[in-house]
Amino acid sequence: MQKATVLLIDDDPLVLRSLEKVLAREGYEVLPVGGCAAALGMIRARKIDLILSDIRMPEKDGVSTAKEIQQALLSSGKKDLPVIFITGYSGEEIKLQAPFVGETLYKPVDVNQLLAVIRDYL
Ligand SMILES: [Mg+2]
Repeated sequence: MQKATVLLIDDDPLVLRSLEKVLAREGYEVLPVGGCAAALGMIRARKIDLILSDIRMPEKDGVSTAKEIQQALLSSGKKDLPVIFITGYSGEEIKLQAPFVGETLYKPVDVNQLLAVIRDYL
């Protein structure tokens, strides 16, 4: 069975690299991007199964990014994707009302918890 493809969005290159490593080791195909514009490009170019996104980013925050991705998917007739947010700030999950949002995890992320949550939403 082919492993799922995860779109990984974070403005911090160190986070991108470390999470990419963790997920690749589990056999996921990982597409790391630094923000909203690159994420939208990736959505158009590739088939993606799940989005893992930071919330606080300078270009556009993770919630707005997820909403734009959602709109892009819907307008091209594709199914919406589960979104798991990762944030360094507690209380951030209050702002997340969108129905497609899966879960919010906090940095530093517990790898086993992250992998369990990803499996839940695939
Ligand atoms: Mg950030």
